[in-house]
Amino acid sequence: MKVLKFGGSSVANAENIGKVVEIVKSATAKDQCVVVLSAMQGTTDALIDTGRIAERGDGGFLTRTAEIAAQHLAAIESLFENLDKTEIAAVVDSAVKELESVYEGVRRVGELSPKTLDRILSFGEIASTKMFSAKLKAEGIENEWHDSRTLIRTDSNFGFAAVDFKETNKLIAGTIGKSKTRLHIVPGFIASEREGFTTTLGRGGSDYTAAMFAAALDAEILEIWTDVSGMMSADPRFVRNVRQIPRINYREAMELSHFGAKVIYPPTIQPVMAKGIPVLVKNTFEPDAAGTLIEAESPDTGEIVRGITSIDRISVLSLEGSGMVGIPGFSKRLFDALSRAEINVILITQSSSEHSICVAIEEKHSDRAKRVVDREFEYEINIGKIDPLKVESGFSILALVGDRMKEHTGVSGKMFSTLGHNGINIHAIAQGSSERNISAIIGSKDVRKAVNTLHEE
Ligand code: ADP
Ligand code: ASP
Ligand code: MG
Repeated sequence: MKVLKFGGSSVANAENIGKVVEIVKSATAKDQCVVVLSAMQGTTDALIDTGRIAERGDGGFLTRTAEIAAQHLAAIESLFENLDKTEIAAVVDSAVKELESVYEGVRRVGELSPKTLDRILSFGEIASTKMFSAKLKAEGIENEWHDSRTLIRTDSNFGFAAVDFKETNKLIAGTIGKSKTRLHIVPGFIASEREGFTTTLGRGGSDYTAAMFAAALDAEILEIWTDVSGMMSADPRFVRNVRQIPRINYREAMELSHFGAKVIYPPTIQPVMAKGIPVLVKNTFEPDAAGTLIEAESPDTGEIVRGITSIDRISVLSLEGSGMVGIPGFSKRLFDALSRAEINVILITQSSSEHSICVAIEEKHSDRAKRVVDREFEYEINIGKIDPLKVESGFSILALVGDRMKEHTGVSGKMFSTLGHNGINIHAIAQGSSERNISAIIGSKDVRKAVNTLHEE
């Protein structure tokens, strides 16, 4: 059993879908396969925008919905040139009608809740997979389409739901795991909670869907098909002369993805790593390129730094004050307050004087963070033991990743002197004890220059 996932650019239009059809045909000729697809490129963004338009009470949502429908119908038109398209065109038509009525509801109440948005977003992945399944059937390739919402169970955290793996594994193994059909097609990104309402797994979440299917079915491999020929030493959109990484281990791949290598959605590695299932990152537009193999242990290539990544839109929170020195419990209370507010901490530093703790979070959570932390320490702030939380925005995190950095001295020295020579100010530094990652917080205005000069070095 193989699981193949194709991202938005791979199914962006009829021409690209045609390439996916060829790849899937040759894969199913050899193995039983599950194919996971994203929505057509741009669809998820367009669905969100349209929801915002409706929420403002603006009737323009109808025009935007018609554009989304047109993108899909145009693809059907050319995919089914000489084939019978009545059934699939009717399926998409009725999905569009339902979408319109949900948007109309949003316009009337003037509110787009995360729950309603998830229902809206499901249109993208449902439509792309139904089109794909119909196209293959029309070409005589037998396949079964499944609604992921009946197979992946999550909590009710709409927009970013957490998966119930026990239940999900059971559901997948009990259906696809028992089936003799050679090809199964499922939408990525969407799932459902206990009461049956649609949930989503976070933007970019189709990779994660694919990893869940691979793990639940003990697949021999998970293939992530995208628009680049594998994981690169840095983001190819921003950095010159990036190198393709032929093989990399799970830990390094996970670290790269958590620190900004968008090619893999961060939670994806965990389920497959637990089962020792290798992941192959391949390029839909260059299927013969070898891609990147992610596995438990990768051969030693002598490289010390595997990749350089960055994350933008970071805020830095600093909790400071003389009252913190030597008194246990301050950091626990800080992290508890952030955790109760469901704010993820990306990076932590604390100076040995314990005079201050500094944490990096996503910028979008900064107002909430300020509120909850100041409330938690209200008493200490009032008596002057600590200062109100300092929040600074406009930062990026820059990270050097590589398992072998721990065996080499001077990597961080070189990193910081390179940044210094290029006039890039470092706001804070963190290195995990695994020494697999050295991170620096710098101003976002410097990030492009920083990644490029470090990559060169
Ligand atoms: P998909 O739609 O197939 O899921 P994504 O856009 O999510 O594709 O991910 C692929 C993109 O990730 C590439 O086009 C590339 O610009 C970006 N990317 C960022 N960092 C890296 C990296 N280190 N290696 C490869 N690609 C990267
Ligand atoms: N369509 C979703 C998104 O754009 C999920 C995905 O593409 O992985 O975020
Ligand atoms: Mg992606």
